[in-house]
Amino acid sequence: MIVIKSRNEIKKMRRAGKMVAEILQMLREKVRPGVTTLELDRLAEKQCIKWKARPAFKGYGGFPFTICASPNNQVVHGFSNSNPLVEGDIISIDFGLIIDGFFGDSAITVPIGEISQETQRLLQVTQESLECGIAAAITGDHLSDISNAVQTRVERDGFSVVRDFVGHGIGRQLHEDPQVPNYGIPGRGPLLKSGMTIAIEPMVNVGAPDVKVLEDGWTAVTADGQLSAHFEHTIALTENGPEILTRLDS
Ligand code: MG
Ligand code: MG
Repeated sequence: MIVIKSRNEIKKMRRAGKMVAEILQMLREKVRPGVTTLELDRLAEKQCIKWKARPAFKGYGGFPFTICASPNNQVVHGFSNSNPLVEGDIISIDFGLIIDGFFGDSAITVPIGEISQETQRLLQVTQESLECGIAAAITGDHLSDISNAVQTRVERDGFSVVRDFVGHGIGRQLHEDPQVPNYGIPGRGPLLKSGMTIAIEPMVNVGAPDVKVLEDGWTAVTADGQLSAHFEHTIALTENGPEILTRLDS
């Protein structure tokens, strides 16, 4: 069941979203060679506590960390650890929190120092595919119009979208209906309505779309070992178009 949010509920989600955006920005500024993901994880948790918010992922299905920290060939759900970040690598950081009963969820992929042009292109295309998906979140259109917009942008550059993980509705629950795949033909699925709140989150691979999950039961990596990037925003659908809730200036 898709839960439609009232104006007041979206206001609360805007607040949660802004906190997520600010914490991600804080983490982005910390990323440099030598820093560890465990340091980033602690920083995010500390800031949640300071703002009286609760990290969304820690304890979710037993997930042990505040952020998902997924470097290089890791797609999503990576564990924070005490290995120093390495120049030329990339790190995907996924973070969510709940405050006043509502969740916010967002992800960024950040370069560590100087990265290659090809890697820059992966980050650029993944971010643009998210923007294309958001732009397609128009009331009266269909859910799969979002999916198709993401897929089209990604494949135009010869990259592939991950099928095994998808975006989702969000609100009082971290994961609500509907699922929001990053692939599909347009004009299918539920009609998009004002008051829907969804997280759109393309996961884009340089090589094949296939992923596998490591023995820890969480960490998803590309099956072919090539790079993967991830960007995510929580948005609200309104009569005036999509509103990004996890944006700094919202
Ligand atoms: Mg997320
Ligand atoms: Mg999500």
